[in-house]
Amino acid sequence: MTLALHGGTPVRATPWPAWPPPLDDAQRKLVMAVLDSGLWGATQGGSAVADLTAAFARRSGAGYGVAVGNATLGLFAALRGLGVEAGDEVIVPAYTFVASATAVLLAGAVPVIADVDPGDLHLLAGAVEAAITGRTAAIMPVHLAGSPADMDALNAVAARHGLKVVEDAAQAHGAAYKGRPVGGLGDAGVYSFQASKAMTAGEGGLIVCREEADHEAIWSVCNLGRKLGGQWYGHPAVGWNLRLTEIQAALLLPWLERLEEEIARREAFAAEAERGLAAIPGRPVSVVPQPPGTTRDSRHLLMLRVHVPFDREFFLAAMAAEGVPLDGGYPPLGTVSALTEAGARAGHCPAAEAASREVVWMRQSMLMDDSAHAADLVEALAKVLPSGTARTRSTL
Ligand SMILES: *Cc1c(COP(=O)(O)O)cnc(C)c1O
Repeated sequence: MTLALHGGTPVRATPWPAWPPPLDDAQRKLVMAVLDSGLWGATQGGSAVADLTAAFARRSGAGYGVAVGNATLGLFAALRGLGVEAGDEVIVPAYTFVASATAVLLAGAVPVIADVDPGDLHLLAGAVEAAITGRTAAIMPVHLAGSPADMDALNAVAARHGLKVVEDAAQAHGAAYKGRPVGGLGDAGVYSFQASKAMTAGEGGLIVCREEADHEAIWSVCNLGRKLGGQWYGHPAVGWNLRLTEIQAALLLPWLERLEEEIARREAFAAEAERGLAAIPGRPVSVVPQPPGTTRDSRHLLMLRVHVPFDREFFLAAMAAEGVPLDGGYPPLGTVSALTEAGARAGHCPAAEAASREVVWMRQSMLMDDSAHAADLVEALAKVLPSGTARTRSTL
């Protein structure tokens, strides 16, 4: 069968669902109500940001929340509010989005990059333990692709060494670990509402935390150093304006009503894809497994590991030509020279290095399609990567 890249017929000619999904009536109504009210900022008496924050605080089980302009700033504010200071070290996984580390730099702290589990690609408790020094102040588990990190193992390490835990839940709205929602499992958790995330207002973020004192400190960081309930021009601490707008919250609040249904849709697609991949002779591709303790994977991304040697660039181009575009994924964080030049430290991270060579992703918008279309992924992979054979540029 001729590859579409070489003029053959593509496996799929129809477009995949767009992201974000179309606005629903509840979003239209609430956004218009906020616009008409003129109360666009969160300090003017409107209720959308307060309602969104309360909903996340409740749903996460954490109890407290602070809405912010994006998750990068949210991670920074959580670290700073929890007392992370200049020169402290914060341990982050080697396979994650760069913002997990740049948020640490923003707090003046040193990102220390530790390896991930070679199977599930989440931060490894053993690697964290090995990276701890006298300056370590916090660890940042990332709930990668919508599946929760192994929080019991990571919290146990943190407890043994007196470290704070900030969960990067930017990709995991609605995910659960041993039946408990992510975000409420560490000292603080941070969700993102950036354009590619499972709930989006174009940009945005939200921090949740469990202790009243932490909430007051994090709120202050996000509100110019004010004291919660204190005076507008009283600034007992240094802080910034990191607030979300009412208009953004009006897009997000109704989304909570359909989040479960959207996750279920992606779960159905992922399950179908998993079945189909297992049926390709030689099983050249498998779904990256979930960490132990996963009770709900929100399937933000479907991560796929290719087990046969392949030319990555060619493979991605060939899949895109077949109408099934995949993402190449993250470089190991320790190889991002801008980070190491800014002071980040990385040990040897063979699991993240292997992932950067072997793992590719299918995006959430594609997973929103009818699960029957998982067959398109399977068919395109079977066409581009025949079982057990290494196709390279030269052999095609
Ligand atoms: C998107 C993302 C962030 C940053 O979120 P923004 O809201 O875009 O700042 C941080 N960490 C991870 C893992 C992400 O995927």
